Amino acid sequence: LDDAFRKAITIIERIELHGHKAYFVGGAVRDQYLSKEIGDIDITSSASPVEIQQMFDKVIPVGIEHGTVIVRIEGESYEVTTFRVEEGYSDFRRPDRVRFVDRIEDDLARRDFTINAIAMDKRGNLIDPFGGKKDIELRQIRTVGNPVDRFQEDPLRIMRALRFSSQLGFTINQSTKEALVNYIAWIEKIAIERISTELEKMFNGYFISNAIPLFVESNIGHYLPIFRDNLNLINDLNNHSVPLCSFSEIIAMFHLIKQDISVKDWVSEWKLSNKIEKEATILVNAIDHYREKSLDNWLIYSLPTNLFKAFIRLHSIFFPKSNLDLEQLNQMKMDLPIHSRKDLNLNGIEITNLFPDVPKGAWINNCLYQLERYVVLGHLNNQKNELKEWAKNGIHPESFNR
Ligand code: ATP
Ligand code: MG
Repeated sequence: LDDAFRKAITIIERIELHGHKAYFVGGAVRDQYLSKEIGDIDITSSASPVEIQQMFDKVIPVGIEHGTVIVRIEGESYEVTTFRVEEGYSDFRRPDRVRFVDRIEDDLARRDFTINAIAMDKRGNLIDPFGGKKDIELRQIRTVGNPVDRFQEDPLRIMRALRFSSQLGFTINQSTKEALVNYIAWIEKIAIERISTELEKMFNGYFISNAIPLFVESNIGHYLPIFRDNLNLINDLNNHSVPLCSFSEIIAMFHLIKQDISVKDWVSEWKLSNKIEKEATILVNAIDHYREKSLDNWLIYSLPTNLFKAFIRLHSIFFPKSNLDLEQLNQMKMDLPIHSRKDLNLNGIEITNLFPDVPKGAWINNCLYQLERYVVLGHLNNQKNELKEWAKNGIHPESFNR
């Protein structure tokens, strides 16, 4: 058993001690067979959420009525769900009803794909009624049961099939793929927030270049915001697709490919956060700056360290012939004369004092901005007198109004 499961075994043992059954399930069991790094460990059990709450000290009730809680032990979180079947998806968000059941087989039957419908006990024995292990070996994505029914029940599974093909590099089994292509329009019923989570994971897949032809062939673009009005957008990716780690990068990439769709359009149509908008904008500006001025101190100064990797990934898409590495960027950041405006040896008040007769206004900020640029680019030393001299004699405040 993979090390990642070891800690979680104590949860299973505790549940068993209370007379219930419990298994590992979902992505972790699947990824173990692929020798992939195990992500979140999910546990499924015959105990009800309330019973689980009584068994453990720290339980976060994330979805009691749907049978899901998070158990925290030793600083780690584990999702523990109760064996359940789901009935009706009339709002295409979540099932109308869930019914708790006693048999693990019934719980596995409600899951999307055979590769995700394998349960494993604490000794590593499998419960695999739908041939999930075989499909992992065949490297194929196949729905549990009739694909048309399963996609109709929850059309998000269509998007999940694309996502798993991108993450795992698997092909989609023929009848599953036929259903996916024939009923692709069902995806329109799904709330955009649910789709965006899967789309983000799709673009992050190691095998993204497998998923893009599927995206095109399935015509899913016809049913997704922005893509539906720009059907060629996705084709432009075919040449050089690189896994991207967040929606900020995805949007930045698409905006850089097609400038007339603004970052704001992406954010509002896909209902994304302000944080993503902000990050995407910084990344776009950084790539634009790079195009004009290459890698200079101002770029490094304006780019937060936490976006360095994202910048390098985008850089590799738009400038495939040149290479950037993180070390180089970090070194440049360390060598900067200042790291923020606060580090300037002249502040706004001191600047106003230089021009007692000029009323306060935007010019102060503009002056600071210019000082900041000159210092970062090495044209001025960050010394009070030198900055004062420049601010006083260099130019009259009028000219700070850029
Ligand atoms: P990841 O490694 O990305 O977490 P995962 O397979 O664990 O992949 P999750 O989205 O975390 O995927 O879902 C956990 C499990 O719940 C899945 O493996 C699957 O068995 C089941 N599941 C999730 N979403 C659906 C769905 N829409 N329909 C049916 N089963 C689903
Ligand atoms: Mg998971």
